[in-house]
Amino acid sequence: HVKDEHKGHYSFFDAAMSNRIDRHLNIETGLRQALDNQEFRVVYQPQVDVETGAITAMEALIRWQHPEAGEISPGEFIPVAEQTGLIIPIGDWLLHTACEEMLRWPGAEHLRLAVNLSPLQLNQRDFVQRVGEICGNTGFPLSRLDLEITENLLMRDVDSVVEKLRTLSRLGVTVAIDDFGTGYSSLSYLQRLPIHTLKIDQSFIQAIREGQDEGTLVETIIAMAQGLDLRVVAEGVETERQLNYLRRLKCGYMQGYYFSRPINGRDAVNLLGSWPREREATGY
Ligand code: C2E
Ligand code: MG
Ligand code: MG
Ligand code: MG
Repeated sequence: HVKDEHKGHYSFFDAAMSNRIDRHLNIETGLRQALDNQEFRVVYQPQVDVETGAITAMEALIRWQHPEAGEISPGEFIPVAEQTGLIIPIGDWLLHTACEEMLRWPGAEHLRLAVNLSPLQLNQRDFVQRVGEICGNTGFPLSRLDLEITENLLMRDVDSVVEKLRTLSRLGVTVAIDDFGTGYSSLSYLQRLPIHTLKIDQSFIQAIREGQDEGTLVETIIAMAQGLDLRVVAEGVETERQLNYLRRLKCGYMQGYYFSRPINGRDAVNLLGSWPREREATGY
């Protein structure tokens, strides 16, 4: 009896595992063709200046429409793209596409473009050159580019990453730590990397709720950022309560569903057109 149960248990486990491996392999195979088959899209999410209400930047986020599986989230396929090295051509494609698209938007001349980078991209010897070339080829000014990086153990050669980010900083590129507070060694990274911005991870923002919004970690992070002269972007702002709380703390910028979900280029143009440049501080 017992033996049979165990047997059943193990074969169930094996099946679940092999399903996962199958999916992984399918994603890997699919990713190899996705660029050629034009299955990727870029969507954009605005960043809003807390004080003026103006949109100051757009974060480009990748989307993948798999021909059979439908939409696969970046949370699932980016790790596979990193393991296979495919993140390099995919990252180049995203930057090129977003630069080209944003330059065509009317009235967006003042907007910055934020892109997410994988550690593998930063570890490329010719990373600075690639970014320079893509901006050069599209005509997008480096001085309007924000690079978002996560604190990550995979960043093997920190010294050479620091040097690359310094070079880009001198050309006007700014660097943000994404998902701040969830990574492996926040504080030592802060000291070593030439960064301009902290993006507070959305889990800390979502913790701001009725009766629980005193003395939060958000407050501490914002105070620390002010002390270090860093810009702060709060991610994942969904409610008016969170917005008001962040405003009281003098958080600089916000991003989240409260303002807009990530939207395609056409919708972004419409959003910008209907969004007053400056809003009353109280009038979102
Ligand atoms: P991220 O850079 O921290 O992006 C923020 C994620 O939070 C996005 O998910 C966005 O859709 C979501 N989000 C924004 N506002 C809200 C909100 O108010 N509430 C909630 N619940 N979620 C919100 P997405 O697009 O699925 O991206 C997930 C992650 O995948 C990104 O996190 C980023 O790390 C990675 N990623 C996305 N695009 C790229 C890319 O082009 N290259 C690389 N290397 N990574 C990317
Ligand atoms: Mg990001
Ligand atoms: Mg984030
Ligand atoms: Mg994230």
